[in-house]
Amino acid sequence: MMVPQTGDMFAHTCTSCGDRFAIFDSQVLSVANTEAGILVSFTCWCDAPQTQLTGRAVATRSASILAA
Ligand SMILES: [Zn+2]
Repeated sequence: MMVPQTGDMFAHTCTSCGDRFAIFDSQVLSVANTEAGILVSFTCWCDAPQTQLTGRAVATRSASILAA
């Protein structure tokens, strides 16, 4: 699995049309900080709602270290 390299855009494969494309900030609908990472919600070119989990849960990891 590829880890996003920048905070500005990342690659995603649509679960509806199967196309692989780059997501830009302007397409992002919401960003949620979860225990597993940052869950980004956006809409594909085909209008299918999509989500992708990015690998950076820095705040959660820091909290875990403090709690341990
Ligand atoms: Zn699509």
